Amino acid sequence: MQRFQSYIGGEFSDGEARFESIDPATGAAWAEMPEAREADVDRAVEAAHNALYEGPWSKLTATQRGKLLYKLGDLVAENAQKLAELETRDTGKIIRETSAQIAYVAEYYRYYAGIADKIEGSYLPIDKPDMDVWLRREPIGIVAMVVPWNSQLFLSAVKIGPALAAGCTMVVKASEDGPAPLLEFARLIDQAGFPAGVVNIITGFGPSCGAALSRHPKVDHIAFTGGPETARHVVRNSAENLASTSLELGGKSPFIVFADADLESAANAQVAGIFAATGQSCVAGSRLIVEKSVKDHFLEILKAKAEAVRIGSPLDMATEVGPLATRRQRDHIEALVARSLAAGAKLITGGNALEGAGYYYRPSILDCDGSASPSLEEEFFGPVLSVLSFETEAEALALANNSSYGLAAGVFTQNLTRAHRLMKGIRAGIVWVNTYRAVSPIAPFGGFGLSGHGREGGMAAALDYTRTKTVWLRTSDEPIPDPFVMR
Ligand code: NAD
Repeated sequence: MQRFQSYIGGEFSDGEARFESIDPATGAAWAEMPEAREADVDRAVEAAHNALYEGPWSKLTATQRGKLLYKLGDLVAENAQKLAELETRDTGKIIRETSAQIAYVAEYYRYYAGIADKIEGSYLPIDKPDMDVWLRREPIGIVAMVVPWNSQLFLSAVKIGPALAAGCTMVVKASEDGPAPLLEFARLIDQAGFPAGVVNIITGFGPSCGAALSRHPKVDHIAFTGGPETARHVVRNSAENLASTSLELGGKSPFIVFADADLESAANAQVAGIFAATGQSCVAGSRLIVEKSVKDHFLEILKAKAEAVRIGSPLDMATEVGPLATRRQRDHIEALVARSLAAGAKLITGGNALEGAGYYYRPSILDCDGSASPSLEEEFFGPVLSVLSFETEAEALALANNSSYGLAAGVFTQNLTRAHRLMKGIRAGIVWVNTYRAVSPIAPFGGFGLSGHGREGGMAAALDYTRTKTVWLRTSDEPIPDPFVMR
């Protein structure tokens, strides 16, 4: 069995306890992970604290920080295949996607490498004579980063990259469901030459490790990605340390198809939006809202595509849909499909798990027209599409906005003015028009409503890891006049 270690204060070590990680393709344990509990969390936060205030990190110039980030980007690119294999083994996400995604993660580090010495303060045209006043942008401090199991290297890069560019130090908690790629990534942090304690990487369980980290008194900011229920715990924990939070949560994203759209292209985008990554994507286009006149035809195309999907070992380059990451996830999907069918949804295809080892579930489509299916509101985080139809543009928009989530949306139409009206009207942090599931380090990512707040990616994300300090400098040599009047 492979063994992984945590990375605290520049040293690799075993945790206070250990736990086994399951290969979701077989359901069998394949690796041993270090379980951090309160004492390890404490050591990691102390290491980050020392690195921020005492170590060489605080004395580096922003350009030097950028150079370390470039080195890290290169190392990620060089080691992408190895990291991809680990992520595939530990989470079941297909190798076809992990290898491409992790190679692209390198670009996130390179993007933030370039930003490190472009974070500028400002000079204020103050309304008082003989006074120079300016704003310094300083690192927000020690950041706790808590990530889920899907796309861990990507979801951590959008936090670690801007936080390092801003000069922060951090403790990253890898998900207990598949921490291998992040624990291995710690070796690249070490190799890149970041001073000890700047980035600490641990893993452990939510109620012990995650809770201890998010309420730690020395944590200044919590960057969290996960489900809304867990986010509520995190926000409650932050009542202890009053840390600021950024929350990237779930979604129930609408995917709107008008009759004038290129239906073949829209169907491919819909497959990417709901079956890619076995639907375990926060931006999954999980609610298809299709114009009634093309509903049957579009569903025929989709059904054929869903049934032709190659399901198999995630380590095989030909596989298109791999297993779900955990048994818990498969059980949740089975239960939600059963509740939806009981509420009147009609099964178009799929609707069951595969026999045999591993947590496989068939790509599935539920026709929810005329029903109050819970699948229209609750997140599956799996390969299950819920379908509704509309007759007017206003109806399409109302259906799209009928969700407590607001992460992403897709609009498929050839009508330019309609596309503009919808992109303004949809309440979501990302709108894709005639495309879906495209991301870039240059483009901010984040949601509205139950999908959280805060944006990852782009320049603004680096600024979010800073806080301003206002400096007042009196330039007069005259003694300060009347001390009883506020200046
Ligand atoms: P989760 O919420 O169960 O867990 C996320 C992380 O929180 C894990 O590391 C877990 O250990 C930790 N955690 C659990 N309890 C905690 C507590 N009490 N205090 C502190 N930390 C705690 O999520 P998951 O099942 O691993 O991932 C799936 C969810 O993540 C989905 O809802 C999905 O939509 C969301 N997600 C969002 C985005 C985004 O960018 N918006 C991206 C990917 C996933």
